[in-house]
This record gives sequence, C-alpha cells and structure tokens, in this order.
Amino acid sequence: MNGYHGKLLRINLSTRLVSEETLNPTYLRDYIGGSGLGLRLMYDEVPPETDPLSIEAKIFITTGPVTATSMGTAGRYQVVFKSPLTGILCDSSSGGHWGSEFKQTGYDVLVIEGKATEPVYINIKDGNTEIRSASHLTGKDTYETQNLLQAEVADDMARVLCIGPGGETGALFSCMVNDTGRAPARGGPGAVMGSKNLKAIVVRGTKKVELADPDGFKRYALEINKRNGRGDETKMLRIFGTPEVMDNNWQVGDIPVKNWSVGSYEKICVSLGGKKMYDTMLVPHNACHFCPIACSRWVKIETQAYKMDGPGPEYESIGALGSMTMVDDLEAVSYANHLCNIYGIDTISCGSSIAFAMECYEKGLITKEDTGGLELTWGNAQVLIQLVEMIGKGEGFGKFV
Ligand code: SF4
Repeated sequence: MNGYHGKLLRINLSTRLVSEETLNPTYLRDYIGGSGLGLRLMYDEVPPETDPLSIEAKIFITTGPVTATSMGTAGRYQVVFKSPLTGILCDSSSGGHWGSEFKQTGYDVLVIEGKATEPVYINIKDGNTEIRSASHLTGKDTYETQNLLQAEVADDMARVLCIGPGGETGALFSCMVNDTGRAPARGGPGAVMGSKNLKAIVVRGTKKVELADPDGFKRYALEINKRNGRGDETKMLRIFGTPEVMDNNWQVGDIPVKNWSVGSYEKICVSLGGKKMYDTMLVPHNACHFCPIACSRWVKIETQAYKMDGPGPEYESIGALGSMTMVDDLEAVSYANHLCNIYGIDTISCGSSIAFAMECYEKGLITKEDTGGLELTWGNAQVLIQLVEMIGKGEGFGKFV
C-alpha cells in the first residue's frame, strides 16, 4: 500500500529470532498513523493481564504513512507499550530523525519481544538486522551511548534510540532517548526497554516509501510546509520555542506552580520563559526531519555548577522542573533537564514527583530522615539537581521518588 512498505520487523530477544511479516492492509487503512496501528497490534498480541515488565510484554515502534517523506513535522514515531507506571496502554511520541531513518530501513513497524540474557543492542541497516552485545555500554548515559554506537557502526549518520542508567535501573518514569535529547518519554518506556536488557536500537536506511502520486504529493507538502512555516505562532515558536508558553500563559493561570497549588506567579514564569532563554543562553539550533517550524532549542551555559552545551528544556519540562518546584533559575532548570536527558528520565514525571515530595516535606509527611538528609524546600535549586542525579542513578531517596 502506498505510504507504507507494508512490512513489520519482529525481534524476539529471548530466542534471538528476527522475522519479517506482511502488515495487514486493512489495519493500515483503518488505523492510519503510528498510534492507531501500534494500539491495534498491541490489542491483538498482548493480553490485558500482562505485567509491563515481564518477558511477555512487548514494545511496538510504529510510523505513519507520511513518515520519512517531505511533509513537515511528520518525522515523528510512536512507541506503544503497557506502562509500568499506570499498568495500562501507553503511546509515547518522539521527534528528531530516528523515526524517518527507521522507516527508510524498509519497515513500518518494529516489534520487540522476549528478554535478552545479557545487555544487547539492535543494529538495523537497510533490511539487515543484527543483535549485538551491549555489555560495554552498561551504565553509559544516552549521549555517550549514541556517540559510542555511531563510532562502532562507523557511521555518524546512523540514528540511535537508547536508554540511560534510568532505564537500566528500572526507574518507572525512565524514557528512551534518540538524536541527543529527543525522547518518547511518558509512561516509562525506558524501564520496559531496560527490563528486556535492550540498551539501544541503531538504524540506517535508504529505502524510499512508495507514493501514489509523487509529484502531486511534493506540491501538496510544499504548500503545507510553506503555510506552516509562515504564521505568527510559528514565528514565535521558531524564535522562542515552546518556553514562550511560560511568558504568556501565567496571565490566565495556565502554568503549573508549586505542585499545582498556586494559580499564577508572574515572577517565576517570566524568569523561566522563552524570552529569558533567548536573551541569555540560546544558540543556533536545528529542526526535526523536514520541519519548517524548527521549535527545537539548544542552549549553552558557562556557569560552572550548570555548565552544559546541549538541548534546552521545552515548556513542559520547565513547568515540571521549574515552576512546580519554585526553582526560578533558568540555568538550574536547564541543567536539571540536561541531567534527565542523559540519564534517560522523563522530565515531566521527574519534576512533578520532586514537587510532590517538596509538598510532602513542607507538610511534615516526610522528613530529613526519609530523604537521607536532603532539605526539600521550595525553590531549592541545589536539591533539585541532587535529586535528579539520585533518581537517574537509582540511589537513596531518588529510588523512592
Ligand atoms: S521541530 Fe518542533 S514542531 Fe517541528 S517536528 Fe520537531 S518538535 Fe515538532
């Protein structure tokens, strides 16, 4: 069917069996896009009582009919799994380039099942799939893992989807990370990947997807991309990124503040906003596959305690790690976001959990004895950083959070 290769790649990590299957064309037509297709396959294959971290659990990585084409914002992919956080179905999305590269290997869907006996990574190159040892990658953060694997496959254009120490230690809100800081993050997909002893999936492909009317599609995509790339909101997103929401939405009380207990707080929101980021730390950035909006942030911080050069936080991450915890220092919040990225931890769940712990501490429900000496006071940037590190490494009170 046009828009799809019509192929599913299934990898059983227990038996190391790799097989190709033809996708049901009715499913491709009835469940358009990665989410629908993944959820339908999950419904067919995973019984509702399945433990999300058991050997029977499966991970479905899916793409849609316009993934890897010239249609803007369509380079995204979906990860569908049973969430260890909620116990129910979860569908997590990520941008960057991994999804498009995966589709160009000649498959629309990747299904991971079983569990490897030792840490492994999967290497898929244009329809050839290998399962390789990843013992040397244990404990490596997501950026190190990406660099090491690109060197190992001798291709710096290979795209890497991996977990960090968070997923390896089974943090329930750990995520997967691709393309330096892009993440299917919600619901704990990193923990599911870690439970299968799967450290990374490397993809590289050159197979173009068939289109019914390539010239017509090109014209249509160009028109849509032009339209999407021009509007005022797009311009704001390109300049200030999603953090611009902090600058504006506090006025209508639409920012989470102090673990959702305060309606709006101008000072904190403005000091964490897109304008502040633009004025103080933003450096030129790029976009996800073929995206004319280019909302991605890249920041450089020289302050020793928060020194970093990497992806900046999105609005939701600033809200969770910043306004929710009352930390109004954008450098500290950006660094906390950076730590989440390298450890492979969902920024939103991480910040929200820390904010909840801070409120428990304020109300005396937990004390220094429970936190291992940490003073979980509102606005405490040092404790925020310390706790993110502990969560990422699965240490002390961090493991409890
Ligand atoms: S650059 Fe921004 S708008 Fe474009 S696909 Fe990526 S996340 Fe979406």
